[in-house]
Amino acid sequence: MRVDAQRAVALALGANITSTRQLPGGSINEAFAVQLDDRREVFVKTNARADRRMFPTEALGLAWLSDAKAIRVPKVLAVSDSSETSPPFLALEFIASASPATNFDEQLGRRLAALHASGADTYGLAHDNFIGTLAQTNAACLTWAEFYAMRRIEPQVRLAVDRQAAPTAWTQTFGSLLSRLPDLVGPEEPPARLHGDLWSGNLHVDINGSPCILDPAAYGGHREIDLAMLKLFGTLSEQFAHAYDEVFPLAAGASERVPLYQLYPLLVHVNLFGGRYVHAAEQVVTYYT
Ligand code: ADP
Repeated sequence: MRVDAQRAVALALGANITSTRQLPGGSINEAFAVQLDDRREVFVKTNARADRRMFPTEALGLAWLSDAKAIRVPKVLAVSDSSETSPPFLALEFIASASPATNFDEQLGRRLAALHASGADTYGLAHDNFIGTLAQTNAACLTWAEFYAMRRIEPQVRLAVDRQAAPTAWTQTFGSLLSRLPDLVGPEEPPARLHGDLWSGNLHVDINGSPCILDPAAYGGHREIDLAMLKLFGTLSEQFAHAYDEVFPLAAGASERVPLYQLYPLLVHVNLFGGRYVHAAEQVVTYYT
């Protein structure tokens, strides 16, 4: 870890750093296990090029998810927004990991359902945040269909076309899908408290073998989007589905909406990684045509 970051972390946590160990797997930032001279071990991520609002908004998101007391979320210990004296960093409780408990999937189903059921004030959030390095606008909308269209799909399609990551024809293709969204998004539901970037890499197994969620892009929205994202890069077991449904049953037709709710993460992937995600996003449009 850079010396200036180490100095800032030590100052914020009121202890000296005795060792740092870089962790694998951070897709965007550098992540470290940091040992302090008061025997605490903490998790720190840094990124000298991060947007100065990135870590502070992640910290707010973690605290908001934690408030639901539904599923484990690391406690925020300190955050820097990159002032002149401190590079951007986020210091969290270190979550040591172990193998999943035999009922891990059931725990995850129940706890995620409880998180979603704890709700949100609006479709949106009081502040904007980021998904990966991409800005995510959370200004509230009156309906979920409007929010999903105007705050999620449309900005990512526009960015993809502007960056030439996708053909200009996308503006029209996706425009026509967006005009049909009110009929596609499913029955009206109150806003759910969402993790917002729930791919398997952001799901951790803690020392008790229980789930802990990391690295959110939180907001109030439709809960099927968290579930669709979990499915995008993994599978959801029967035990998970059963436990989730017992706590907070899904509305009719949820399986028909999985591609629709995978569209946002796919578009985010088009803008972060391009390549094969362009075709995958187009297949979603074909599915609903
Ligand atoms: P990025 O923002 O770069 O994607 P992540 O927040 O996903 O970084 O974290 C990077 C790595 O650090 C992941 O492998 C994750 O498992 C691990 N990690 C994240 N938060 C913690 C934590 N609080 N305690 C222990 N390990 C963590």
